[in-house]
Amino acid sequence: MLFSLVLLACSSLDRHPQMVNIRGVVFGTYYSITYYEEEGRVFDHPIDSLFKDFNQSLSFYHPESLLSRINRNEEVNVDHFFKPVFLRSAEIYEETGGAFDPTVFPLVNAWGFGVSAREEMTPERVDSLLALVGFHKLRLSDGQLFKEDDRVQLDFNAIAKGYAADVIGAFLESQGVEAYLIEIGGDIIARGVKPDGNRWRIGLEIPAADALDGQDWEYYVEVEDRGLATSGDYRRYQEVEGVRYSHTINPATGYPVDHSLVSVSVFAPDAMSADAYATALMVMGKEAGIRFVEDREDLEAYFIFGNDEGDLGYYISSGLVLFSREDL
Ligand code: AMP
Ligand code: MG
Repeated sequence: MLFSLVLLACSSLDRHPQMVNIRGVVFGTYYSITYYEEEGRVFDHPIDSLFKDFNQSLSFYHPESLLSRINRNEEVNVDHFFKPVFLRSAEIYEETGGAFDPTVFPLVNAWGFGVSAREEMTPERVDSLLALVGFHKLRLSDGQLFKEDDRVQLDFNAIAKGYAADVIGAFLESQGVEAYLIEIGGDIIARGVKPDGNRWRIGLEIPAADALDGQDWEYYVEVEDRGLATSGDYRRYQEVEGVRYSHTINPATGYPVDHSLVSVSVFAPDAMSADAYATALMVMGKEAGIRFVEDREDLEAYFIFGNDEGDLGYYISSGLVLFSREDL
């Protein structure tokens, strides 16, 4: 995630429904949930238990999660979280020509971004792991996952955070909430409009050269019924002998991506899709990524890249409207 996203929530005290904000830590990152509800009901407990269920299902950090058990080839039935993520992954894998591919897990692990330490990555080792990558090697049938090769393993980290935001959103809707904005570690879903008729505003932080330098937002977007996710390297990378290795793996080569793209933020109809496309665009790189987004009616994106002068450059897709802070 290159820039974290700042919520510009304006509370309107004299209005109903009331605004509720819930914050906390989940999936090793922060979340913030803002919504309007007639009586100001605070849904912190059910949301907590949804997060717990979610970790039990799709996290590769939890040895007993459904995903970990599938990766160990235990005989299990997939659950109601796994199935939609699997099916959407299959679609986005196809659409992106394999740039998004959750079967990169063996490579993610070997490069040191999974659950084990970084290995010595020789071209031979990369090739042998690359042979296990390919989402088409998996098939879901009668609630069970079948693998072409037992060594194929899944990593849904590039899509699960966005999906979790969508799941929380669906829960809020089941409680009658019509307007909400959910952010989990920079992945966002915004639905409805605020009671005053305004759309949700999301500030975009412009990145500093180093991860932790002071950052501030200059621009914001207004969204309604949109997902937004950012993929990028400046907060998650490994430095080995002065070389930075991205945590995004190119499934075509088996190597961490290494090009001028610093981050991509994608707007899509839901957060799960935005999350997966953002990762795919990081793999495609600037030129191919821009072409992909401009060809799609349902996607907009904001690219940040290093230019030849060593500065940061930007590309804003043609359908995306940025507002300047000064206009507020
Ligand atoms: P994101 O921050 O959403 O781009 O997800 C990055 C995470 O997804 C990485 O830390 C890996 O666990 C995993 N990953 C890396 N490369 C890929 C890829 N090409 N397709 C799908 N998942 C990936
Ligand atoms: Mg992603």
